[in-house]
Amino acid sequence: MGRKQKLRQERKIKNKNPTSAVVTTAPEATVEAASEGRMPEAAMKAIADEIDNMFPKSDEYVQAMMDMDTEIINGNEHYKLNNIEQYVLFKQGATEHGCVHSMLLMGKILRIWSATTKGHCNPPPMYIHLAYPWLLEGAIRGSFRCIMNLIGECYMHQAGPDRRTDALFDYWGKIANNTDTRIPALGLNELKYRLGRKCVICSKTDTKTLTLTQCMGCSFHCYCSESCQTTHWNEHNHRGECKQLRILHKYHKPYAKAIRDAAIRGDIHPALEKLQYKLGLSRPLEDYQELIDYNTHDGKLINPKDYVVAREDGTVWVGSFPSMCVSG
Ligand SMILES: [Zn+2]
Ligand SMILES: [Zn+2]
Repeated sequence: MGRKQKLRQERKIKNKNPTSAVVTTAPEATVEAASEGRMPEAAMKAIADEIDNMFPKSDEYVQAMMDMDTEIINGNEHYKLNNIEQYVLFKQGATEHGCVHSMLLMGKILRIWSATTKGHCNPPPMYIHLAYPWLLEGAIRGSFRCIMNLIGECYMHQAGPDRRTDALFDYWGKIANNTDTRIPALGLNELKYRLGRKCVICSKTDTKTLTLTQCMGCSFHCYCSESCQTTHWNEHNHRGECKQLRILHKYHKPYAKAIRDAAIRGDIHPALEKLQYKLGLSRPLEDYQELIDYNTHDGKLINPKDYVVAREDGTVWVGSFPSMCVSG
């Protein structure tokens, strides 16, 4: 296809022609949710495309996608970043126009960056902590594919036994379900089964003599004892998860629809800015420059998985739209 022809086709897409979209994504989480047998994968994908095609596409996104190659691995589409200019375009689309499509690709690219630069087949997710704020930015605006990727990449795949963030998984599953009732409440049945009334640390269940207590903050996790609760809170950083959840319940959930409607119109709802502030997404760049530039924190090399979800106060480790004021 010639470049001009390609350009025309992309323009057509841009002018709201969702049925002929050339560029589609298959979020890994979609595949997983679909494989739970509640909805065929193709149907999920069609809904995901339908929902996200309502959001405007920035010129930068359209331009970057023209040069984007994809390859199919295990039935999923994987993006192959051809040059740094593409990344810069996505970043521009995301930061200057709040383009959720660019945010999704930023998240995807940052996650696979080591694969594209070093040629490994299955690399460690070196930059997953940098992908998180962009997927979160897309998710709070209501992008379905960003929500799916947030769940799939940041809450499921990265979660070792000591990094489980099932309460956040549950939150976003419900938000997706609220967005479009055709979407099954993602993975929640599996979660309930897995967690049930069971101590999240030692798996003890209710008995005649023992009644599990719930976390007062989120009412999601159950504990057999204060000691298990303290372990979860401190060592497994439920503190950060629980606090991020509280921020979302207070500053996102009541405004989710209004924020999304504004994003679809290409506007910024005032509640979005407050939410970004509360989540730490607008923290000054100096706060986390080191994590971006060197993958280090206070001079020590990090395990990116420890820097994905939340700091102790529930705010993100790495921001997205840094405020201009200089810290310090
Ligand atoms: Zn326990
Ligand atoms: Zn909690």
